[in-house]
Amino acid sequence: MKTIGLLGGMSWESTVSYYQVINRQVATALGGHHSAKVALISVDFAEIEAFQHQGRWEDAAAMLAEAAGRVQDAGADMLVICTNTMHKVARQIEKAIDIPLLHIADATADALIADGVKRVGLLGTCFTMEQAFYRERLEAYAIEVLVPDQEGRERVHRIIYDELCLGRLEPESRRVLLDAIDALKAQGAEAVILGCTEIALLVAQDDTQVPLYDTTRIHAERAVEIALG
Ligand code: GLU
Repeated sequence: MKTIGLLGGMSWESTVSYYQVINRQVATALGGHHSAKVALISVDFAEIEAFQHQGRWEDAAAMLAEAAGRVQDAGADMLVICTNTMHKVARQIEKAIDIPLLHIADATADALIADGVKRVGLLGTCFTMEQAFYRERLEAYAIEVLVPDQEGRERVHRIIYDELCLGRLEPESRRVLLDAIDALKAQGAEAVILGCTEIALLVAQDDTQVPLYDTTRIHAERAVEIALG
C-alpha cells in the first residue's frame, strides 16, 4: 500500500473528513484491522485565510509549497491538498515536490464524465466560483460550469468562512445552500459540485433530488484507489 500525503488544516474540519473517508475506504477494501498509511501536515488556517483575503496568493503558495515538502519528506507517495480553493496555487506546490499531486478538479471531472454530466453547478468559496483556476480546469474536460449570482456567491462564501470552517452547522444555512442548489438546477445544471471541502458537513445527498458531487469524498477516494493500486 502506498502512503497518502495530506496537506490539511484548510480547514481542519474537512481534513477530519478526508482522514475518515480514506481510512474507511481502505478498511472496506482490505478488511480486518487494515487502515491507510497517511502522512499529514496540517497548517494553521488563520495564516492561509489571511493571505487569501489580502490577495497574497504567492505568500500562501510559498507556505504551502514548504509544507508539501515536509509531507514528501515524511514518506508520502502522492500529495492531496485538502481544499478546493488552494488549488489556485497547485502549480507552485507541484513544482516544490517530486511526488504526484492529485488535483481535486481532475478527480471531480472524472466522476462527472463517468456519469455523463456535461453541465454542472459549482458551489464553493468566491475564489473557487469566480476565478479561472477551477472553472477552466473543468472546462478543459468539456464540462460547462454554472455558478450562483453575486449575492448567492457571497452568501455561500460567508457560510463557509464564518460557520463551516469554525465547526458551526446552522440549519438556516443548510436551507440557503439547498436553495442555491435548486437555483443552479433551474439554470440548467444537471448536477452540483460541492466545491468546498466543508459543504458536505452540512448538506447531504439525502437533502435534495439534485445529484451532488462531494469533492472531499471524490478526492479522498481517488487517493485510496491509487494507494491500493
Ligand atoms: N476548504 C474550503 C475549500 O475547499 C475552503 C477553505 C479554504 O479556503 O481553503 O475551498
